[in-house]
Amino acid sequence: MAEQKKAPVGYDDTPFLPGNQWRVHDINRPQPRVVTPGASVGDAPSDAVVLFDGTDLSKWQGRDGSEAEWKIEGGYMEAMPGSGNIQTKEAFGDCQLHIEFACPAEVVGDSQGRGNSGVFLIGEYEIQVLDGYNNRTYADGTTSAIYGEYPPRVNACRPPGEWQSYDIVFEAPRYDGDGLVSPAYLTVLHNGLIVHNRQAALGPTGHKNLANYDEAHGPTGPLMLQDHKNPTRFRNIWIRALTDYDEA
Ligand code: MG
Repeated sequence: MAEQKKAPVGYDDTPFLPGNQWRVHDINRPQPRVVTPGASVGDAPSDAVVLFDGTDLSKWQGRDGSEAEWKIEGGYMEAMPGSGNIQTKEAFGDCQLHIEFACPAEVVGDSQGRGNSGVFLIGEYEIQVLDGYNNRTYADGTTSAIYGEYPPRVNACRPPGEWQSYDIVFEAPRYDGDGLVSPAYLTVLHNGLIVHNRQAALGPTGHKNLANYDEAHGPTGPLMLQDHKNPTRFRNIWIRALTDYDEA
């Protein structure tokens, strides 16, 4: 077997995050404590918009409006490596989101190269999807991290191949012209454990840069799922809007 090149587990040459001693993706930032989650997860309530019920991708499309090319099989969708990110046709803003995912049962790769995908609220704020079970990577890029900004409070990962859940409450940022009025806030539960409690984001998430709110963006956008070239699976995706933008 060809020797696999190890993916980096962090960096020591990236910008410092404000208010602490850690750099973006800091190689030395402490790892989240490992906790074993409870057994079951949530079904859609009656007022939710069901974005994926296991049967079709009719609510989804490619980023350029093309057909979503992810595979559907056995009640789940699977990222087809190289097919690109997919996103909802509908835009959402402040919301409650439930989504389930499973990283490949067969472990391939390491650090950021293992079971990587992502859930992007309004297409801008990534809650990392990764196989973070006994897989060291930079803490602010592990499973359920607000990518490049905040590690989860605990590592609640199930083993590779097992279904896991995110329940996310998202509050979109508000701008007045180019000026930020209020940041994005994220509350995230991973397998039922709270990992972010109304955490203010530093800005739209990115790779190796310090996030900021310099570029104003609207309060709504599509929910996007990342093709990070790992065949990660999703199922049971539903969302509840928390703000009526027609009235706001
Ligand atoms: Mg990702």
